[in-house]
Amino acid sequence: MVPTLFSKIIEGKLPADIVYRDDLVTAFRDINPAAPVHILIVPNKIIPTVNDLTEEDEQLAGRMLLVARKLAEVEGVAESGYRLIINCNRHAGQEIYHLHLHLIGGRPLGPMVLR
Ligand code: AMP
Repeated sequence: MVPTLFSKIIEGKLPADIVYRDDLVTAFRDINPAAPVHILIVPNKIIPTVNDLTEEDEQLAGRMLLVARKLAEVEGVAESGYRLIINCNRHAGQEIYHLHLHLIGGRPLGPMVLR
């Protein structure tokens, strides 16, 4: 696999504000936050998009969601609310082809998608 921007962050080769790390995922603050809380939860191994998830990634996919829940609590947005987003490919505007779950909150977030 060709290294990605995010795999370089996970390997410590690029700086980032890392807020959580375990054997399967790493979470760090988005460099261009869309809201007061904007964290990316990223698999430690390179998976380009949701389309590339396999049955073997079941534990990893679950871990991403559970880490998001935990971080929402730590960041103080669990009660007020937050949004979890995974962009896949061009219609969703995916920029970095290393799977990541956006945890966004800290203010009212408006409508889910442009109509
Ligand atoms: P997506 O459009 O879903 O691929 O989201 C990519 C996200 O990565 C964007 O929200 C960017 O602001 C964020 N991003 C890009 N470069 C970095 C970086 N070096 N550190 C943290 N977040 C980044």
